[in-house]
Formats: sequence, C-alpha cells, structure tokens
Amino acid sequence: MSETVTLLVDPAPADASGDFAATFREVDATEPAVRVGDLAGQRGDGVFETIAFVDGHAQEVGPHLARLANSARICELPEPNAAQWRQAIETVGAKLPATGEFGIKVILSRGVDRGPAPTAWITANPAADQTAVRTQGVEVVTLDRGYARDTAERAPWLLLGAKTLSYATNMAAIREAHRRGADDAVFVSSDGFVMEGPTSSVILRSGGVYATPSPSGAILHGTTQLSLFDHLAAEGRTVEYRDIRLEELLAAEAAWLVSSVRLATAITAIDGVAFPADLAETAGFNAYLLTPRD
Ligand code: PLP
Repeated sequence: MSETVTLLVDPAPADASGDFAATFREVDATEPAVRVGDLAGQRGDGVFETIAFVDGHAQEVGPHLARLANSARICELPEPNAAQWRQAIETVGAKLPATGEFGIKVILSRGVDRGPAPTAWITANPAADQTAVRTQGVEVVTLDRGYARDTAERAPWLLLGAKTLSYATNMAAIREAHRRGADDAVFVSSDGFVMEGPTSSVILRSGGVYATPSPSGAILHGTTQLSLFDHLAAEGRTVEYRDIRLEELLAAEAAWLVSSVRLATAITAIDGVAFPADLAETAGFNAYLLTPRD
C-alpha cells in the first residue's frame, strides 16, 4: 500500500479495447517523468479531472470520464479511451489504502511540442483534511468573471466549459478572496449572473427548491452537483437548473460550494455580510457524498 501513486499512461486510440496494463508505467513522484517540452508544463495545454477516492472507492468515475471527453473535444485533443482510463484509475486505486480520502488526478496533455503524440499521467495523493470546511462552512466574496454569461458561444476559443490545465486565473481568484479576508470566491458574470466557484459549483436553496446555474458552455458541469441533485430528486425534493442573478443568491435561504474532494461546504458569509448557513443540511449532504457513488 502506498499513499502516493503516479502512473504514466500511453494514451490509446479511443476505439482500442482489451487489457491496457502494458500502456501504464508506475514511476516515483519524485523521479523525472515528464519532458520539459511537454505543452502541459509550457502552456497549460491539456485537460484534467480530479476524482475523489473514499475508503477504497473511486467516486463518479463515469461522469468524470464523460467530462474529460467533453474537455478533450472542446480543446481538439484526441478522444480519451474511457476503458483505458477506467483501468488506470482501478490500477491506482488498488495501490491505495482501503480507508481514508485521496484525490486522483487524471491529466491529458497535448504532448511534447511538435508531437507526435499526446501524453498522459495519473496521480493519487492523500486529500487535505476537509473537516473544518465541511462542518463550519466558508466565507466567500463575489468576483467579476470579466465576461458575460453567453461568452462561450461567442468566443469558443476561450475554452470555457473545458477543465483545462490553465488554472492560474482560478488560483488568482482564490488569492484575491484571501486578500479580502474570505476563504473562497463565487464568480459572477459581467451581466450579473452567478456562475461557479474557482474550483466548485454553486447550489442555493430558495423556497425549499434547490437551484444551480444552467450548465451553459461558460461553466463546468460539476459531477458533485449532478450527484447531489440526483440524490435530492430521489428524496422527492425539487431541483432546477436556471439562470441565477446575484441578488437571488444574496436572498437565498442557504447556499453551498460543492466539489469532488472538498464535497459540500456551506456559505457562511458573502462579501463580508453574514449569510444563513444550514450546517445540518450540509452534514446530510456530506454523509451522502461520502457513500460509494458511481
Ligand atoms: N467548477 C470548477 C471551475 C471546478 O474547478 C470544479 C472542480 O474542480 C467544479 C466546478 C466542480 O466539479 P466537480 O464537482 O466535478 O469536482
């Protein structure tokens, strides 16, 4: 058993089948493994997924691989072979301890400058302790995303909606939130619509109805939000995708940031003003999100 696993993956054509073990090579995370000319490092030109591994189970592998394929399509990268990635995730999972929380990161790069082939790798690391954010919530600031909600259709080259390796601006937003004394951020489009957090989806409850911004091309469709909505709908609660103006978020009964490894965290303040956090419901969300989910 190991707490950290790194596997280099030689990407197979999308239609290849069979056993992919020969396309994996385990390396020590401290060893040189990726070429300096790799465009992932040089330009952030690639896509990725972060998958939670909880008590021996990789969560929501199907939805994560579907989103990886969508990101690859938007970026005009070769279609990932889902069976190969499933086997890579299983191979990594088999090396991890059977208890505890880990983050498995799947990376697909355009490859070394001037080709010929994409490069890929997968890593697993222990997750940071999420107890405080799950039980106490987070204070957020709203930050201007800098573009209108319909930008994805007008400017597809911005690759909005793809989970690309270029997360420098997302990280800058979190630093800005810290500078303003908060823990995290909620992006708002230049025309006033709530979008997502830099590493999370936004869900609010208003009049007992759960809502999240419509998965337009401008935001990532979160696997955690999808799973939670399926769960809530199965319990008879009403869930909806729709445009949400900032004023609606500010007037909501409760709101959450949700993502794969952190899971659900209640928003406790927005722009320095206390916000009604429902910590009991948050605990219920996290109890569900920690169960094995496919
Ligand atoms: N939106 C952005 C920009 C993200 O980076 C993430 C996750 O990292 C999410 C939403 C939530 O996605 P998921 O629930 O699949 O982790």
